Amino acid sequence: MAARADRTTDPALLQSLLQARRGTAFFARKLNELTDADLDGASLLPGWTRRHITAHIGYNARAIARLVEWAATGVETPMYSSPEARNQEINFGATLSPIALRNLFDHSAVHLSVEWRDLPEEAWHHEVRTAQGRVVPASETVWMRTREVWVHAIDLNNGATFIDIPTSVLERLLTDITGTWHTRGTDTGLRINATGTTTGTDLAFGGTNTADPTIITGPLPAVVQWATGRGHSGVTATRNRDVLEEVPAAPRWI
Ligand code: ZN
Repeated sequence: MAARADRTTDPALLQSLLQARRGTAFFARKLNELTDADLDGASLLPGWTRRHITAHIGYNARAIARLVEWAATGVETPMYSSPEARNQEINFGATLSPIALRNLFDHSAVHLSVEWRDLPEEAWHHEVRTAQGRVVPASETVWMRTREVWVHAIDLNNGATFIDIPTSVLERLLTDITGTWHTRGTDTGLRINATGTTTGTDLAFGGTNTADPTIITGPLPAVVQWATGRGHSGVTATRNRDVLEEVPAAPRWI
């Protein structure tokens, strides 16, 4: 019999689940504010309409639910059969009727939430493999979904900004992104400094490999916006104490 509450009792995990579900609710709100005709409009992602964003978020929930099912049953069920299949699915989803598109988002979100709710305590440690080939515990699926719903709610191009994202989510996002750059070695000569954190201490990354790095500074939401490749308003770039006229583009993240 299905439980009515999350089966895990781990406080950190419950907090993460709350943030994923809050992000989903936020995405739902921004989506529901749009009329059916609005769905045809441009998103903030090049080449994608709001339909593509909505389809992607719906299929992303299904793909992540497959990982949770994998953790629960031990039967390997990958997120997507291939990167091409993932893209085809999004392109197909974008052609659905508005009602079908909205149902896809709603139903897939509820399904994922139930899969999480019913996952037994010990299964959260079971390992699964992401679409990028990373082997992670099932608990990582919560963060994978969290960043998708919050960031793509902004991409809906309906007034949401990075200021709407909880500070703790922004902090983890920036840690993730700069960690990816560091692994790839694309952060050479770059130092990131973000103000307005949960602890009151600035978050600083990179810049240890160059004597005079380009320093990117700004409030956390602006720095994360820049780091995700979504503009540089509110961000300052300096080198040798000189303010640069142009803020350099962030290294690729995805
Ligand atoms: Zn995405």
